[in-house]
Amino acid sequence: MKPLDDLLEEAKQAHGHLCAGQVLGVRMAMCGLRELGISDPRGRDRKRLVTYVEIDRCATDAIGVVTGCRLGKRALKFRDWGKMAATFVDLELARAIRIAARESSKELARARYPELESKNAQQMAAYRELTDDELFTKQWVVVDVGPEDMPGFKGDRIVCQKCGEGINYHREVILDGQTHCQSCAGNSYYRIA
Ligand SMILES: [Zn+2]
Ligand SMILES: [Zn+2]
Repeated sequence: MKPLDDLLEEAKQAHGHLCAGQVLGVRMAMCGLRELGISDPRGRDRKRLVTYVEIDRCATDAIGVVTGCRLGKRALKFRDWGKMAATFVDLELARAIRIAARESSKELARARYPELESKNAQQMAAYRELTDDELFTKQWVVVDVGPEDMPGFKGDRIVCQKCGEGINYHREVILDGQTHCQSCAGNSYYRIA
């Protein structure tokens, strides 16, 4: 795996700035990959890995950079839980590790760099140096990645019987015997203006 500083530089380029979230995200992804024994996630091992992120924040971008898992490749899965955590799934060996940031890491950062003015500066400096165990909790977990959630899944597209739009990946809902898309089934995030 590339060294921390190289990965931070890449994360900075992709994200637009360097911030505490980038450092935390890079460290989190490095920790997950190390636990799984995956050393070349963007090259040789690129088909082995699926990553679930539990927050849409700075760190999420960094995790995408380090792992090479992207939404458009279906290798990055977003669960909107508002938690600074991610689960790294090795499809080849069918095992997964969930890494979560410890609440205490912010306090440790402040204690280590009290002379730095901003919290962001304290955390940026400290998150480089704190050990994985100081930063994170780790847990081996089982993730059932269904066939329709796999990166290379090829399946039939079906059509919503209400709005006529196509639906991929078995995301339809059957209501009263009729095929509905998520929106027509009442799970919409928008209303017609
Ligand atoms: Zn940021
Ligand atoms: Zn519909």
